[in-house]
Amino acid sequence: MGLKLRVLYLGKMEFPRFRLVECDNEATMVVSPAVALLIQHPTLGNILYDTGNSADFLKTYTPEMLHNYPITEMITIEEALAKEGLTPGDIDQLILSHLHFDHAGGLQHFVGTKAIDHVLVSEADLKQAWWAVTTGNNGAYIRSLFDVEGIRFETIHDTTWLADDLGLFIQASHTPGVIGLILKTEHHGTILTTSDAIYTADSYRQALPPGGTINATTDEFYDNLERIKAMEKNYNATLLFGHDIDQILDWAGQGVID
Ligand SMILES: [Zn+2]
Repeated sequence: MGLKLRVLYLGKMEFPRFRLVECDNEATMVVSPAVALLIQHPTLGNILYDTGNSADFLKTYTPEMLHNYPITEMITIEEALAKEGLTPGDIDQLILSHLHFDHAGGLQHFVGTKAIDHVLVSEADLKQAWWAVTTGNNGAYIRSLFDVEGIRFETIHDTTWLADDLGLFIQASHTPGVIGLILKTEHHGTILTTSDAIYTADSYRQALPPGGTINATTDEFYDNLERIKAMEKNYNATLLFGHDIDQILDWAGQGVID
């Protein structure tokens, strides 16, 4: 018996499309979902990849974040897990693709649980996050979201296999280290998740670099794109992107993917 994947839809943000991908028309809007993945693994237990936005976003996010990325629907990770019959205390392993507010925002729900003292992140992203919040160059990082009570991080800096069918790889695009997953399923082949290193299927297929001010250069995006294309071919994989509303709603609606 293999791993079971569920895509957890955690609500959405709505903002001009040019903040997500390069786009000439300033008026076109885009809907951008928040998402987490629940992986129920036969030997590793319940693994959660990302935690969505913070329920306290109105209090904790900066005016600039709230202006640029307005949250128009909020589903907490606790609510999403409850729909699957789980609580935060049932999660054995947390993995954060990176520490931006819409991925680390739900960490507070895990304070006091068994998962909080070994949260997997990339070393490069953790260093970037601490640098950002202690120099005033916050970008999309908020200290109170990831510096929660009892937190201890376990860092990786290269491809790491937690099991034969579950690998983590690091993408130096969007932040210096965004964790992607390699999930080998029994009936759906291999699934690669890019998180925010590639936001949408359009961005991938049309090689549209991200908009806004998050990426330092577009070169890092194109370099990562080539690497993901090679991985897609190698693994004959299906890709799951970070903020593609059509794909996230479609996959979330499928229930268990195994
Ligand atoms: Zn991000």
